Amino acid sequence: MPIDATQPYDDENIFAKILRGEIPSTKVYEDEWAYAFEDINPQAAIHTLVIPKGKYVSWDDFSTTASDAEIAGFVRAVGKVARDKGLVEPGYRLLANLGQHGGQEVPHLHVHIFGGESLGRMIA
Ligand code: IMP
Repeated sequence: MPIDATQPYDDENIFAKILRGEIPSTKVYEDEWAYAFEDINPQAAIHTLVIPKGKYVSWDDFSTTASDAEIAGFVRAVGKVARDKGLVEPGYRLLANLGQHGGQEVPHLHVHIFGGESLGRMIA
């Protein structure tokens, strides 16, 4: 069920629990700003999620309220995860769903990295 992306941050959302280590995840990368792990229901040969360590519901929340350091750190982490997976060549796709029309289901900002195969024009 897609979320209302204007809701306040919920400390009990599943990605908050993953960040706190209360729920297991397949860790790919971690630094001061970001945590990356494999999607539990992959939609491509490679499907990795990258989340900021800060409490942001959505891309809108993050892009308007995060500090420049957090934004830079997170964006660089997304790039590093994709690069370290060897995806720069032949390429990959980034996706951040937002709210009802975007089909966002988890109320903690996450960027999907899809790759490892030739992707269609659209992917959910
Ligand atoms: P959204 O639709 O953009 O919010 O994507 C949420 C994503 O989180 C989906 O691709 C789910 O498969 C993924 N997901 C949900 N729970 C877990 C989990 O516990 N571990 C890893 N991925 C998860």
